[in-house]
Amino acid sequence: MSTHFGPDYVRALAPYQAGKPIAEVAREYGLDVANIVKLASNENPLGIPASALQAMQAAALDLARYPDANGFDLKGTIAAKYAVPQEWITLGNGSNDILELAAHALVEPGQSVIYAQYSFAVYPLATQAVGGRAIVVAAKDFGHDLPAMAAAIEADTRLIFIANPNNPTGTFIPAAQLEAFLRLVPPHVVVVLDEAYNEFLAPELQYESTAWVRQFPNLLVSRTLSKAYGLAGLRVGFAIAQAGLTDILNRIRQPFNVNSMAQAAAIAALNDAAFLQQSAENNADGYLQLTHAFDALGLRYVPSFGNFVLVQVGDDDGAGARVNQALLRQGVIVRPVGNYGLPQWLRISIGLPAENAAFIVALQRALA
Ligand SMILES: *Cc1c(COP(=O)(O)O)cnc(C)c1O
Repeated sequence: MSTHFGPDYVRALAPYQAGKPIAEVAREYGLDVANIVKLASNENPLGIPASALQAMQAAALDLARYPDANGFDLKGTIAAKYAVPQEWITLGNGSNDILELAAHALVEPGQSVIYAQYSFAVYPLATQAVGGRAIVVAAKDFGHDLPAMAAAIEADTRLIFIANPNNPTGTFIPAAQLEAFLRLVPPHVVVVLDEAYNEFLAPELQYESTAWVRQFPNLLVSRTLSKAYGLAGLRVGFAIAQAGLTDILNRIRQPFNVNSMAQAAAIAALNDAAFLQQSAENNADGYLQLTHAFDALGLRYVPSFGNFVLVQVGDDDGAGARVNQALLRQGVIVRPVGNYGLPQWLRISIGLPAENAAFIVALQRALA
């Protein structure tokens, strides 16, 4: 008889499927690493900001010391930037850490967690890891159906995850709709508003979620340095919520969850407005480049507010995997989304102009 370890809900977990690393694709397909284009993980194609690299080099000299467990300087930077008290900030080892902290701190086995169909893959993982019961609300036009999500709240619901813009579909919920939703949620249910792609929003779509944090003690806003700030490999994210909720999260947070180089780099990146501007501009240009090509090829795509586009590459359920393989053979890595229940679609991260162009050529061949 074999021994089983851990609870049923942990053994039933399907681990997160990350984008294929460049070196792995080079090995598997016998390609040169230099010729591979990776548009699979919504990383920043501009690379790490020079300001952050410089800060890391300085911080490296002090690596024999433990990091500041309270992240005083980084929290100070965030507090100033968003005009909130330091007591409202939780630092995370990526915002993935924040999402997990929320589930661990707030949900007991059997209690329910609400999220939308086609929303971020970490929500089901974080829910299941604590034995939570997922209530998955059907998507509307590939995005969140907020009235349906409010109606889905049950007596034992403890947490609601909302991604705005959403990954992998790129949909966006306008501020007025979000605010109306927040008013419907009972005070004992925590809403995690995951704003991983907020910095890519056009100025006229931006909204001030910290104003809602002031209004709603059950709201937690999550941000990351992995996307627009170009620090995915360092793992830094943070949450902003009122002190009561923040205190609960910090009770279970690992004391040194954000390392010292990451703290130093994050401070530099958050102060680097020029890099952020450049990221947003490259993204807006690349979005047009990709969507013009999809239009020319007659491919359907979901209009996106993030740094990626979801595109339908066929009308049979083998299409996504098939076209993905044909792209990999040409050294182009994108993200199949069959695990999200979207087997006819691929998610393409927006790259540099030359990377986007290489992808478009490879896609034309893959579809031929
Ligand atoms: C990429 C992403 C994150 C977080 O990434 P981290 O690198 O862990 O900060 C969070 N939410 C969504 C919706 C994402 O797409």
